[in-house]
This record gives sequence, C-alpha cells and structure tokens, in this order.
Amino acid sequence: MRPGGNVSSRRPVTQVPSLDRFNRIVVKVGSSLLVDASRGSVKKSWLNALVADIAALHQRGASVLVVSSGAIALGRTVAGLKRVMKLEDSQASAAVGQIALSSEWAQALRKHSIVAGQVLLTLQDTEERRRYLNARATLGRLMAMRAIPIINENDTVATSEIRYGDNDRLAARVATMASADLLILLSDVAGLYEAPPSDNAHARLLAVVERVTPEIEGMAGGAASELSRGGMRTKIEAARMATAAGAHMIIADGRVDHPIARVAEGGLCTWFLTASNPIAARKIWIGGSLELKGAVFVDPGAAAALAGGKSLLPAGVTRIEGVFSRGDCVAIRDERGAEIGRGLVAYDALHAERIRGRKSRDIAHILGTPGRAEMIHRDDMALAGR
Ligand code: GLU
Repeated sequence: MRPGGNVSSRRPVTQVPSLDRFNRIVVKVGSSLLVDASRGSVKKSWLNALVADIAALHQRGASVLVVSSGAIALGRTVAGLKRVMKLEDSQASAAVGQIALSSEWAQALRKHSIVAGQVLLTLQDTEERRRYLNARATLGRLMAMRAIPIINENDTVATSEIRYGDNDRLAARVATMASADLLILLSDVAGLYEAPPSDNAHARLLAVVERVTPEIEGMAGGAASELSRGGMRTKIEAARMATAAGAHMIIADGRVDHPIARVAEGGLCTWFLTASNPIAARKIWIGGSLELKGAVFVDPGAAAALAGGKSLLPAGVTRIEGVFSRGDCVAIRDERGAEIGRGLVAYDALHAERIRGRKSRDIAHILGTPGRAEMIHRDDMALAGR
C-alpha cells in the first residue's frame, strides 16, 4: 500500500499541466523526509534519488531552487539536545545542523556536476523591499550561473516574533521572489484531503484545487509532524501566496524514492492552480497595489526605450521627486509629467539625484560604491496600459 493509507483520489476535473513546461521550480523538502531522527543523520540514499530528479530538471534547462529544512533536526542530535527545546536551543541546533545540511546537498549535487549555493534568509529579507531586491538579485545571479540555491531560514538569528518558523511559507516567498512558475512541497502527506486522514480513513485526496477558498482552508487540520513545523495549514497558506504570485503549487508525497519523477509520471498529489503567471502577477502587484513614494522623470529617448522593453538607466532620468528608499515604488513620468509606468527603484532618492543623467559606468565613481546599472530594472517595472 502507498504511504498515506486509504487513498481514493477524486478524478481531476481539470487537466493538470505537465512538469515539462515549467522553467523555474522551487522544491521544498521537509525535515522528516530528509533526517533520520533516531540517528540524527541525513537519509543519504533518499537524498541522492531526489537529487537525481532535480538534476534531470536542471539538465533539461530548468532553474531549480531548493528550500531545505532539517538544520534543527540534524543539529539537535549532534548537540545532544532533548525533544522540547527553548528558542536558543533551536537556534544553537540550527547553527550546528545547517553546516551538515548544506554540505550534504552540495555533495549530492556535485555528483551531477552541479554547484550548490547556500542562502539563509530571515523574514525581513523577504518582507522589507530594500532587502527583498538584494535577495532577489542574489538568487537571480545564482540561477544565471546555473548553480542551485539551497535555501533555509536563518534560524540562528531569527527570534520568534520575526521568523517564519516553517519552510512552507518561506518556500512560497522564495517562489514569489524568484518569479518561479512552480512550487513543489515534498512532505509526509500525499496531498490535501477533504478531511484530515488521521480523523477519517476514507477521506479523499483532492487532485486539483483551482482556487484557495475558505472551504479549502477548512480542510486543512492543524496537525504537524514532530520534526516539521508546518502542518497542512501552512501549506494552504503557501498555496495562497504562490498562486497569487502566478505560480502553480503541488503538495506531493516525499516518502518515496524519486518523488518528483513520480509526480511527472502522474503519481498522486494535489495541484493548486494559478490563473496568472509570475511576470503578469508581479506587474499587477507593482502597477496596482503599492504606495507611491516619489517619481522619476525621463527624457523622450528613455520613454521610447521603456516602451521597447528596456530597463530605465540613470542616463535617461532628468528629474527626481520625493523622498524614497531603494526598493520603494515610484512613478515613472515623461517630461510633461504624465505617468508612463511604475517601478521599484534601485536607488535611494539622494543617490538617484546624484546619478541622474549620468552614464551607468560612472556610478561607482560618483557614489563611491558600485551600484546597479539600472535605475529601475525592467522586471521591476509595470508600464501604463500594458
Ligand atoms: N528551518 C527549520 C530547519 O531547518 C525547519 C522549519 C520547518 O520545519 O518548516 O530545521
């Protein structure tokens, strides 16, 4: 029998997409899958099989980002800590365990000649716009290098008020930040059931969720397994975040070897579909829902370049208005003051004022530190009427 008990799946009414069509995929791995709790070690053969699946996606040209839990579970045994831990115990465990966790991933990926890069994020890195732009740029650079980021929450410094605490929602934020088109949550459940399977052995697994409604939220019990923080509730929250950002999401059973290949072959799982895509969702977010902190005025040459899909360079900016910080949303206005778009600006107002009208190659000289070549990157911009 499959792990997960009496599974009867509801026939998908909607056709689910094929895994082949996704180009940027976040894979989230839960602690209980990766760590053998009694030994306090990584389940190597399971990890190697998963990494073979990831390498296959990578080799066909997709970018893969991994959000891996397991630092606390691994470090706890090494540090000899007991089951119930204070915050500082978890933080010390994470400090010990994260080293082992990353090196296991790096070793497994190296067998496929893939380079791993460790990225530890805090809640502020994903929620404060200034830091968000940095984290996004780093992930973008790693993907451009064809490296695979191995991401976890920076548990050693996060305090309880400012931490995610679960990697489900962290993975959804990573998917949003990286403009991923698919998020796969590998977990110790097969997917979302109409009722918690622990209460009802005949509960049916939903193959497709077209929209996260209150009814769907009601299906998520609160239960979490002992080692992982997130239960179904945080997974549904992740689904809401990911689908709003234009990514599809899958909850799939990770307790099998080659769990991603299983999904690709049509194995049992729950798909949460989005009606959007990452680029459109990001443009809607920038174009509509943010408070404007100022404006940059551009010359006709720059206005034409923007209309042609280019980024806004400092050279095309004629005037700066307002007091804004790096990462804030500003209006882009033509010389007559008409709004032609909006974007997340890469410089504080003071710095923007100093580099406006100047060549990008002179930025380092003018500001004394190197900065981004673009005042507003085209991915961070929404043009009016588009
Ligand atoms: N960041 C935690 C760790 O690596 C895991 C959080 C979770 O289980 O979702 O141990």
